[in-house]
Amino acid sequence: MVSDTQTQTGTSPSEKKEINGTNGQLDLEASHVLHNSLISIPPTVVSAEGSYVTFGTGRRVLDGCTGAAVAIIGHGNPEVLAAVQEQMSKVSYTHTVAFTTPVAEALANEILQGNPHGLSRAFFVSSGSEAMDSALKLARQYYVEIGQPQRTRLVSRQRAYHGNTVGALSVSSHVSRRAPFLDALVLNNVSYVSATYAYRGQLEGESEEEYSARLVQELDEQFQSVGPETVIAFVAEPVGGATAGCITAPKGYYQGVRRLCDRYGILLILDEVMCGSGRTGTYFAFEQEGPGVYPDLLTMGKGLGGGYAPMGAVLAHEKVIRGLQSGSSYFVHSHTYQAHAVGCAAALAVQKVLRRDGLVARCAAKGRWFEAALNATIGQRKYVGNIRGRGLFWGIEFVQNRATKEPFPPALRFTWKLVDEAFRRHLSIYPGAGTADGFKGDHVILAPPYNASDDEFEDLVRLLNEAYDAVETEVD
Ligand code: PLP
Repeated sequence: MVSDTQTQTGTSPSEKKEINGTNGQLDLEASHVLHNSLISIPPTVVSAEGSYVTFGTGRRVLDGCTGAAVAIIGHGNPEVLAAVQEQMSKVSYTHTVAFTTPVAEALANEILQGNPHGLSRAFFVSSGSEAMDSALKLARQYYVEIGQPQRTRLVSRQRAYHGNTVGALSVSSHVSRRAPFLDALVLNNVSYVSATYAYRGQLEGESEEEYSARLVQELDEQFQSVGPETVIAFVAEPVGGATAGCITAPKGYYQGVRRLCDRYGILLILDEVMCGSGRTGTYFAFEQEGPGVYPDLLTMGKGLGGGYAPMGAVLAHEKVIRGLQSGSSYFVHSHTYQAHAVGCAAALAVQKVLRRDGLVARCAAKGRWFEAALNATIGQRKYVGNIRGRGLFWGIEFVQNRATKEPFPPALRFTWKLVDEAFRRHLSIYPGAGTADGFKGDHVILAPPYNASDDEFEDLVRLLNEAYDAVETEVD
């Protein structure tokens, strides 16, 4: 969570040592791990339980963002640990290109029993990025199989993040993560339309419906300009996460998108790696987008394994499966660790806890409390431009002028200052892409465990406000 940029932000040398977890435990020269930063070692986590993570220094931190919106049922859940152990004692690995396992079948059944929204098959992988690459390949192969090989283009959105593998990065628009690889590794058959970013995109006096219609119109024009018969898929996060800071779509947007995709025979790929698995208050985030909305392919990750195992998935609509069946009946894609038995056991146990404890409903209910608490406290502060999100997935955008929405200069690194101050107060929050990454406006993301206690939620809001106060004082 703490990058080198963060430790460069006004932290005293002794605190810097503690934050970095050095304190005689690890130093840069002694580590052979290639950390993202080559100039500092991130803090060392030694244990994690419930809503807390403990560092080598003894510092215990409230996990206000479940890592990167991952540990949805908290850490150290004994039922998940038991399920993993049991699976390990039965089959820890088998080559799942050639074989299947009862646990992979059970996980797919748990998620897809009754073919919700026409989704009928799950392809399990080990990360959100792999899920996105798999979805892109499945989409392209679908058209090859049904005799439309001229479809070679993809349309994505600004402020999108779909992962760091080459395919997933190609449909992302994270400026700093793409920069070194442009013209070398990322695909150039991708074009972009506006994000559903009401705070900066909705015009003065424009209604939600008008804004929605304008965005759909823009997508239509994009399809027209590249030739709709050349487009494989439109890719979107129902609630935009890492790069966008929890932006939701205006009413009717996804219904309009679905209609356009149907009109031109373009596939709709919804990326729910971050916003799915119940995080927004429904199991699938798109379920709140109105009747008739469904994806042809849907990606999952993060919360699927809840952090107990690296897990991702593509869920495929029966239409896509039928397409492949009408051709080669073989998905030309595989990974050594696809549908890994232990990963599937962890994910299955997480899904069972979610269902048994009614945690998706709690996410919706507690989310309403959380929204109100954020708006009533930090939402009133002078550098808070916008609070947005759904369920237990909230982004707070900071600006230096609320009236003009003028962002802070990148050199100020507002986001990192706040993350740093929160960490000092034993709270972990997620640093969204900010002005330092080439985007207007800094933001942080809050994504606590669905089963955090009421007291822990109160603490989160209090510590966040205290951290903000410290940054405001420093900036003034
Ligand atoms: N898609 C979305 C929406 C994400 O937020 C992320 C990661 O943040 C990914 C895909 C990539 O997932 P992973 O980091 O597991 O590869």
